[in-house]
Amino acid sequence: MKIPLRLAKNKDLPSIGINHVAETNLCSQTLQLLDEYRAFTRSLSVMLENCTGCGACAKACHSYLGTGDFFNIPAARAGLLRRIFVRYFTWSGRIFGGFAGAGEIERGILDRWVEYFYQCNACRRCAVFCPFGIDTGEVVLAGRNILSRLGIVPSFMADIARNELTSGNNTGILEPAILDSCSFLEEELLEETGLQIKIPVDKPHTRILYLPSSSELFVNSDTLMAAAKVFHYLGLDWTLSSMLLEAANYGLLFDREVMKKHNGRIRAAASAVGAKKVLMGECGHGWRAARMYTEGANGPFPFQLQHILELVAECLPELRLTKLPIRATLHDPCNYGRGAGLVDGPRKIMRACVADLVEMTPNRDRNFCCGGGGGLLMDEMKQIRMQLGEKKAEQIRSLLPLDYIAVPCASCKAQFPLLIKHYGMGEVRTGGVIDLVGKSLDMRGSAVFAGREPNLT
Ligand code: SF4
Ligand code: SF4
Repeated sequence: MKIPLRLAKNKDLPSIGINHVAETNLCSQTLQLLDEYRAFTRSLSVMLENCTGCGACAKACHSYLGTGDFFNIPAARAGLLRRIFVRYFTWSGRIFGGFAGAGEIERGILDRWVEYFYQCNACRRCAVFCPFGIDTGEVVLAGRNILSRLGIVPSFMADIARNELTSGNNTGILEPAILDSCSFLEEELLEETGLQIKIPVDKPHTRILYLPSSSELFVNSDTLMAAAKVFHYLGLDWTLSSMLLEAANYGLLFDREVMKKHNGRIRAAASAVGAKKVLMGECGHGWRAARMYTEGANGPFPFQLQHILELVAECLPELRLTKLPIRATLHDPCNYGRGAGLVDGPRKIMRACVADLVEMTPNRDRNFCCGGGGGLLMDEMKQIRMQLGEKKAEQIRSLLPLDYIAVPCASCKAQFPLLIKHYGMGEVRTGGVIDLVGKSLDMRGSAVFAGREPNLT
């Protein structure tokens, strides 16, 4: 399926450390970059050499199920890169060519990479169902990395990367706006609870640096306000950082050098406030990048890394919660369930917060992607994203009526309301897991309110 993806202009790339490759050198550079990538990531060769074409991954992929496009079958998608790999880096491809599944490198293949690597949410569901564990999501990220080093980058990705690397957040919000927004949310909290609940920014000598999604300042503010309530309740010493107000790390999704720079910013921001712990907010791929790749790419952490849902799940016995009289379900973000093992904590929290928790089928590591992950939130992809979300819509419909769907990831928070509207599923609220804690927490039990000493860091 042809996708209307806008690509970044060459002049905009040097600011994120990418130099475009001249048209005449694209093919030779592609081979060199593929050679370098496979040398660095040995598993790529294993995944490219061992597909038997059994087809088990086809029914696992929401992208293929939603679009019906042959090249969205995971094996066929990975095949766009595999044929080049086989031709130039295996003896069978060199000798038998097309009979061994090999294909010559030519300019048109790069257009196909763009087209189909950006119809994949890198959700990794195919890997769960492949008898050999072949992870087409990883093959896709290899392809996107190569494209990026050639200077072929969606403008959405390039803009976000530039914002992340210059202002420390996806949307390019500057410090005065961050401070304004935090004091506005503090006023809202005062009105709601009667308590002076602070949302500190750049507080020095602080134990915990909290990295939310920057969208929590303006769009998903219930999540940030709920986090502030929980921290206040537990008496935690925490702060936001104006130099890094973003859990998301788009580099994971298209360029590992960009990912590495963002990781470096996490370290710098933690060190600037003296944090002993970095607490990640509700962002799926941000959590995966931080948990699974940061130490490998940038060296050991000088701080403890934890997800807010892990911390809150641990602290549940400390929290006075009243179950909300609602019927709710949990969407397992792909990067929690299949990317970085975060499935029990959110359930534990939800069981404590809602009267009627129902499970999606399938769920946990078999859950379907909502179609919003993997960096596909660009406007021009909206129509296709609705197709990619068809399986998720089916899952939701089978549970209706629902009052609330917890989607503890900023990309899912952007995609779900559109899906619900597109598939005509009425009024179902969506938001974070932490939002529910904020709603069911009885602040009269707070550490500050009760005069207890902070003891949980
Ligand atoms: S399930 Fe695995 S082996 Fe079978 S076609 Fe898909 S990627 Fe290839
Ligand atoms: S990673 Fe997800 S979207 Fe991509 S091919 Fe696999 S199942 Fe499909």
